[in-house]
Amino acid sequence: MSVELPTRAQVVVVGGGIIGASLAYHLTKRGITDVLVVEQGQLTGGTTWHAAGLVSQLKPTHSLTKLATYSNRLFEELEDETGQATGYRAPGSISVASDLERWEEMRRGISMASTVGVEIREIDMDELTDKVPLLRTDDLVGALYIPKDGQTSPVDTTMALIKGARQGGATVVEGVAVQRLLKNGDTCVGIETEDGHVVEAETVVMAAGMWTRQLAETIGVNVPLQACEHFYIVTEPLQGVERGMPIVRDPSNYTYFKEETGKIMAGFFEPKAKIWKLDGIPRDFCFGTLPEDWDHLGPIFEAACHRMPALADAGLQLFFNGPEAFTPDGTFYLGESPEVDRCFVAAGFNSVGIQTAGGVGWVLADWIVDGYPPMDLAGADIRRSFSFQSDRSYLKERISESLGLLYAMHWPFRQYESARGIRKSSLHEALDRDGAVFGETAGWERPNWFADNDQLREYEYSYGKQNWHDNMRAECEAVRHAVGMFDQSSFAKFLVAGPEALAVLERLSANSVDVELGKGVYTQWLNERGGIEADLTVTRLSQDEFWVVTSAASQTRDWAWLRRACRGHSVEISDVTEDWSVLGVMGPHSRGLLESVSHIDLSNKSCPFGSMTEIVIAGVSCNALRMSYVGELGWELYIPADQAGAVYEEIRRNGDRFGLRLAGFHAMNALRLEAGYRHWGHDISDEDTPLEAGLGFAIAWDKPVEFIGREALLKQRGETLTKRLIQFRVEDPDLISYHDDPIFRNSVYVGRTTGGMWSHTQDRCLSMAYLNNPSGVDQAWLDSGDWQIEIGTRRRPVTPSIRSFYDPKNQKVRS
Ligand SMILES: Cc1cc2nc3c(=O)[nH]c(=O)nc-3n(C[C@H](O)[C@H](O)[C@H](O)COP(=O)(O)OP(=O)(O)OC[C@H]3O[C@@H](n4cnc5c(N)ncnc54)[C@H](O)[C@@H]3O)c2cc1C
Repeated sequence: MSVELPTRAQVVVVGGGIIGASLAYHLTKRGITDVLVVEQGQLTGGTTWHAAGLVSQLKPTHSLTKLATYSNRLFEELEDETGQATGYRAPGSISVASDLERWEEMRRGISMASTVGVEIREIDMDELTDKVPLLRTDDLVGALYIPKDGQTSPVDTTMALIKGARQGGATVVEGVAVQRLLKNGDTCVGIETEDGHVVEAETVVMAAGMWTRQLAETIGVNVPLQACEHFYIVTEPLQGVERGMPIVRDPSNYTYFKEETGKIMAGFFEPKAKIWKLDGIPRDFCFGTLPEDWDHLGPIFEAACHRMPALADAGLQLFFNGPEAFTPDGTFYLGESPEVDRCFVAAGFNSVGIQTAGGVGWVLADWIVDGYPPMDLAGADIRRSFSFQSDRSYLKERISESLGLLYAMHWPFRQYESARGIRKSSLHEALDRDGAVFGETAGWERPNWFADNDQLREYEYSYGKQNWHDNMRAECEAVRHAVGMFDQSSFAKFLVAGPEALAVLERLSANSVDVELGKGVYTQWLNERGGIEADLTVTRLSQDEFWVVTSAASQTRDWAWLRRACRGHSVEISDVTEDWSVLGVMGPHSRGLLESVSHIDLSNKSCPFGSMTEIVIAGVSCNALRMSYVGELGWELYIPADQAGAVYEEIRRNGDRFGLRLAGFHAMNALRLEAGYRHWGHDISDEDTPLEAGLGFAIAWDKPVEFIGREALLKQRGETLTKRLIQFRVEDPDLISYHDDPIFRNSVYVGRTTGGMWSHTQDRCLSMAYLNNPSGVDQAWLDSGDWQIEIGTRRRPVTPSIRSFYDPKNQKVRS
C-alpha cells in the first residue's frame, strides 16, 4: 500500500464525503487535531459529487431547521476562511402550493421557521412570475419565499471543508478501504483496513454514506439504511432562464427546479422509489452513475412539465441517476451507537446531506468532544432505530416509500403504507375484529382509534379535525366518565435483577425506587446535566428484582442507557417486551369492572395508587399496577402474552354494564395532554430538566444514593427558573396546534410548542410549550401577559396554565 497510515489517531472518520469532511473540519475547530479521515476511493466520489447542491433552510422540525440554517451560514463564509472556492451563492428559494392543504402545511412551516430566525415570507403570484417567468401559476394557491436559501457546489464545498480540516491538523487519506471496525469488550477501539493495517482510535465515526449499514455490521451495530436511485435532468440552455433565478420546489408535482448556467436542472422525489443494491454496495463504486430509466421517471417528468411547460420542448443535456442512502423514517442517523461505545454514526441523509452537512459537523463534533449533543436531537438519534429495520425485505418495502414522503404531505398522524405488521400484540386479531384502526410505532401495530361498525377504517388526513375525531371523542368520554380499555402491549419492559439491582436503579433514577415490594414508581433517568434521558416506571417485584416499563419508541435508547449503567455490577437485565401483553383499564368505573372479573377487593385500602397486585381474570394471573397515563383511576394489567386473549375477552364480556369502550392511542394522547402528563421525545428531552418540565414532584432529593444529575438539579433548585414547560389552551375552536408553533407574550416571542392535541373536555386544542424569560417564568409573569400562539401565520389568543387543565390537583388517579 502506497498510502502512509498512522497506527493511532484520536478520532478516525470513515468516509470522505461531505459529512466526513464537515465532521473533521468541526473536530479540529473543537481542538481535536489528531483526526484521520479514511476514504476508500476518492474524496466526494460516493454520493456527494453528484448532488444538486440545494442548501435550503426550511425543514420539518425546529432542530433540523437549526442544523440547516447553520450550514447556510457556514457555506457563506467558508470560501473566505479557507481560500478554497465553494460555488456557494444565495438565489433564494420558492415553494409553491397547488391546493389549500399544501398551502396550510407551508404556512405552518413559515411560522415554525420564524422561531429559528429564518427570513421567510409569503409572495403573491405577480411576484412569483416576476422571479420565475417560466412557471405556470394559474392553478397555484400560494407560494413562500426564503430570500437567503442557497445553492452550492458539493464537490468544492467538501474540498473547502477538507482544506479547513487539514489546516486544523487533520490527516486525510484516499484509496484506503476500512475492512472492519475493531472492538474491545463493548468499546470500539479502531479500524482495520482492507490491507490489514490497524489504526487504534479513541473514537470511530462511520460517515460512510450508503455503505454505512454494511460497515456497521462488522462491529455488531445496526444502521438501517438503504440506497435508492435518485434522479435529475439538466436541459440545454433555455430561453427565459436567468442567472440568480430562485430555486423552486413544487412538492405536489414531486419536483424541484434550479438554474444552472442558463439551463434548468429539475430533480425528483417520486412517490415510489427504486431500491439499489439491497445486498450491499460494491466498494469500488466511485464517481459512479446508474442507467437512465424513462419508464420509471416518465410520469414524474410530465408532472414537472406541467409546472414548467418550457421543459417539454427543451433538449436534455443530461439524465442523471445516482444512488443515495435513505432511512425508514426519512431522517438521518447521528450519535453514539447503542450497541458499542465510542462508535458513532453520521449517515442516511435522505438527499439533504449537503444542506445538513454543516450543522451535522457542528453538533456531532460537540457530541464527541463533550459527550453529549448541544441541543435536543432525539429525532435524529441513532438510538431510535430497531434491529428489525435492517431486515432486507423491510428495507426494500419501506425505503421505496420513504423517499417519496420527503415531498409528500406531512400530514399530522400520517401512517406508513408499506412494511406493516412487523410487530403485533397477541391481541391483534381480537382488536381487529373489534374495529381497531392501527397505526405503527417502533414496528408495532397499535390501535390508534376504533371505528364504528359501518365506518371505513381509513384515515382521511387534514390539518384540522380528521375523520376519527368523533370516535376519539367517544373514547375520551368513556375514559373520563365510565371506563376505557387500551392495548398498551407495545410498551417496552425490562427485568432488572441481582444483588446490585437496587443500587444501580437508585443511581439512575431521580425518584427513589427503594420502596416496599409491589410498589411502582414514576421516575426520570437523568444525565449529569440534569436533562431527562428517560421517562418510565420502575416497580419493585422483590428485594432485588425490578420491572421497568418505558414507551415503545424508547426501547433501544433506554435499554442502552440501562445496559451501560449495569456494566461492572452484579445485575442481570433482560428485555421481556414481547413476553408480556398490557391492557390499560382506565376510568372511574375501572375499579368496579376489574373487581367484577377478578373478585378481588381493589379499594384504595387494599390497592392504593402505585401498588402492583396479583389478580386472576379468566383463570389467568395478571400483575395489576395501579398507574395511569390518562389522569383517571386505572390499572395497567401485565399479562403473559400467550394468555392475554382470555383476559381481554372476559373484560369485554363484563364491560357493558360499566360503560366500557375500547380506546386507542389518539385518545390516550388527548387525555394525557389535558391531564398534564409529559411525553418523552416531545415535551421532555435530554436538554430539559425535571424542574423545567414541572416534574419536580418526582425527585427524591434526600435519598441516600446520589442519583445522576442531582448536583445539576440542586444548583438549579436554588435559582429562578428561566425556562419552564407551560400548558396552553388555544382559544380558536377551529385551529389545532401540532408542534413547533411560536408563542408570544405581549407580541414578543418567548417559546414554541412541543406538542398539541384536541381536548374533548376543553373542546379546544391544548398544547405545551417551554417558555423562556431571563427574570423567571412564574405565575405573576403569566398573569401579567397577553398571550398568543401563531399557527400557520395566524396569531390567536391562548390561555396559559402552570397546572393541567383537567384535574389540576391530580386527584382522580387516587380516587
Ligand atoms: C441525485 C442527487 C441529488 C442530490 N441533491 C442534493 C441537494 O440538492 N442537496 C442536498 O443537501 N443533498 C442532495 N443530495 C444528497 C447528498 O448528495 C448526500 O446526502 C450527501 O452527499 C451524503 O454525504 P455522505 O458524506 O454521507 O456520503 P458520501 O458522499 O457517499 O460519502 C461517504 C464516503 O464513504 C466512503 N466509504 C464508504 N465505506 C467506506 C469504507 N469501508 N472505507 C473507507 N471509505 C468508505 C465512500 O467511498 C464515500 O466516499 C443528492 C443526492 C443525489 C443522489
